[in-house]
Amino acid sequence: MGEIAANLARVRADIAAAARAAGRDPAGIALVAVSKTHPTQSVLAAIAAGQRMFGENRVQEAAEKYPALKSAQPDLELHLIGPLQTNKARDAVRLFDAIQTVDRPKLAAALAAEIPREVARAGRAPKLHIQVNTGAEPQKAGVLPADADDFIERCRRHHGLTISGLMCIPPADADPAPHFNFLRTLAARHGLAELSMGMSADFALAIAHGATHVRVGTAIFGQR
Ligand SMILES: *Cc1c(COP(=O)(O)O)cnc(C)c1O
Repeated sequence: MGEIAANLARVRADIAAAARAAGRDPAGIALVAVSKTHPTQSVLAAIAAGQRMFGENRVQEAAEKYPALKSAQPDLELHLIGPLQTNKARDAVRLFDAIQTVDRPKLAAALAAEIPREVARAGRAPKLHIQVNTGAEPQKAGVLPADADDFIERCRRHHGLTISGLMCIPPADADPAPHFNFLRTLAARHGLAELSMGMSADFALAIAHGATHVRVGTAIFGQR
């Protein structure tokens, strides 16, 4: 077995163990394999090992790597997990199956304009998650915790967007548990089913706190 296949098998086993320990069905946890900076060859190795859901953090890089991969393997599901500039909203809506990083009114408005166009053009549109900057870190994307309730409501009512769930990236130097808890409570308050949280270092903990999507890069593809 190749290294990426072996890594994937280990991550999948760890996800299943964390799910069982939390009394959850492992099938309720989706693995987003984060392939940013890694070459197409690495993605192909993951696909050969049965992986179908991938994450990229830049529209441009994803646009270079994924269209060819998707035409060869149409059941790939590509998630945008990095910040999205408004002027790239159209490209992102066309390329991605999920945009996890909706985080400000201007972007919500751009997506609300592009999504009906994409439905008319291609009969599909990406799922959307709202990114919450749970640590209120100045350098990090995401709606601030204090603004999150209003922003979720605004996306739904004012912009007419269907929101599938929430996403967060806890501060690197902090215990992530309170951040995962905050996100879960916020999602429950708004009846949102999906929680994208947990990366290579903390996905088992995120699963214990209700993650439905874990975003794992290094543990699958190696160091960037
Ligand atoms: C890079 C990245 C990940 C994956 O991080 P690893 O520590 O390599 O697993 C997850 N989420 C986001 C938003 C990222 O940018």
